Amino acid sequence: MKKSKASKKAEAYQTRALDSARAEFAMETALRRAIENGDLTLRYQPICNLASGKVESFEALARWTDEHGVQHQPTEFIRVAEESGLIVPLGRWAIDAALATFAGWDRRGDASHAIRVGVNVSPIQLQRDSMPDVVEHALAASGMSGERLKLELTESALIAEPARMARMLTALKSFGLTIAMDDFGTGFSNLASLQKLPIDVLKIDRSFITGMLGDRDKIAIVRAILSLSQALNMSTVAEGIEMHEVAQTLAGLGCTAGQGYAFAQPLDAEDAYRFLLTRNR
Ligand code: C2E
Ligand code: MG
Ligand code: MG
Ligand code: MG
Repeated sequence: MKKSKASKKAEAYQTRALDSARAEFAMETALRRAIENGDLTLRYQPICNLASGKVESFEALARWTDEHGVQHQPTEFIRVAEESGLIVPLGRWAIDAALATFAGWDRRGDASHAIRVGVNVSPIQLQRDSMPDVVEHALAASGMSGERLKLELTESALIAEPARMARMLTALKSFGLTIAMDDFGTGFSNLASLQKLPIDVLKIDRSFITGMLGDRDKIAIVRAILSLSQALNMSTVAEGIEMHEVAQTLAGLGCTAGQGYAFAQPLDAEDAYRFLLTRNR
């Protein structure tokens, strides 16, 4: 019997769904192995003062090149890590590795002593792992003080269990950590919870910065975020600054710090250290 057009379509759809499920599983398996083997690396992107150009901190960003030489997109393997629970070991590794790099820089001289490192923390990791224990352990292992570590959280992390998040952030703050709200403006933060939680930094999402110069709406949003953060006694970092004109405009609006290709791409540890030495000389 001839198959109908519709059933052929349904079959093709099922085949594709199965293929993509297999691909996901293969990626999960490879990622698990990469984490176990220590094949992930971190790059460090400088966050610079917009007035002086000096480095204030770095953001650590995970990179994964698999055994076939394929470089996976962070947004993709982080999603797979979140869906599979691998974000817990990956997230622990990122904090340990970033602090180890900074401890190494500290031993080379005093250039890095006042510089913080920011590590991204997934909402799933916040739910599943005990972050205060993870941080306490990582600080002890590296010998670094909590003032040197910044955690970048997203708005979605705070929505699910606000009371538990408040307790966790307070416990983290007791180590001297800095808490940053990443991609700010893209989620829907409850402004009251923003004010109640111990958040130090708002990071203005790249989508408002890209193409900002010719766009009154984007400039209006950036202004609104800047005045919100001032009112709440927070500082602001603009993400995705690709042009110096944008950095100048942001400085004029009262934004103090930013990151983006106009300053530097995410760099490997050695290049990041050299960038710091040159910039902050
Ligand atoms: P994010 O935390 O918002 O990081 C900023 C992203 O913007 C990075 O993408 C960075 O490379 C990119 N970027 C920086 N400057 C510019 C610029 O001037 N122009 C443009 N177009 N892009 C710029 P990346 O490294 O691909 O990471 C993507 C996302 O993956 C991160 O967004 C973060 O949410 C997640 N991620 C990366 N590493 C980790 C990690 O170790 N743990 C967790 N939980 N998430 C991570
Ligand atoms: Mg980030
Ligand atoms: Mg961001
Ligand atoms: Mg982002």
